[in-house]
Amino acid sequence: MERRNRIKLEMLCVSENEAIARNIAAVFVAPLDPTVEELTEIKTAVSEAVSNAILHAYGAEKDGSIYLEMEADTSGKITIIVEDRGIGIEDVKKAMEPLFTTGDSRERSGMGFTVMESFMDKVQVDSSPGKGTKVTLIKSLDRIHGF
Ligand code: ATP
Ligand code: MG
Repeated sequence: MERRNRIKLEMLCVSENEAIARNIAAVFVAPLDPTVEELTEIKTAVSEAVSNAILHAYGAEKDGSIYLEMEADTSGKITIIVEDRGIGIEDVKKAMEPLFTTGDSRERSGMGFTVMESFMDKVQVDSSPGKGTKVTLIKSLDRIHGF
């Protein structure tokens, strides 16, 4: 069954868009025959990436945009890009270490990137200070059960 698809959308950096992005990811992936586990993993990875953009990218600036792009090819490979034009990350390697956070340690655990990496096949972070951050999440669905 051929299931090729692509969507692109722009969101304001407000907290309710974390849940909206999570649910968009779910309705995008659901027709592609994922397992329940795969669906949960993709939703969670997208919500971590979008929550990072909402929380960290724009500081006090309230009208920043977050761009979400999702693509599925015919083999069941899902590519998701979450991008912002915010403050960027100075040291990506350090930011991706488990427990590293620049947030309030009472509220943040510093585990967002670690969660994304454990749930996706590949997580690529491209960022430059002052310009923004692009997080690419890739996962191939294990569709053996469906065919
Ligand atoms: P948690 O996700 O557990 O609530 P966290 O968001 O601090 O905490 P990570 O998601 O792993 O942890 O992110 C680590 C750090 O990377 C953040 O504290 C922040 O400094 C930086 N960061 C992540 N995403 C962005 C972004 N889009 N723009 C700027 N900085 C970011
Ligand atoms: Mg986070």
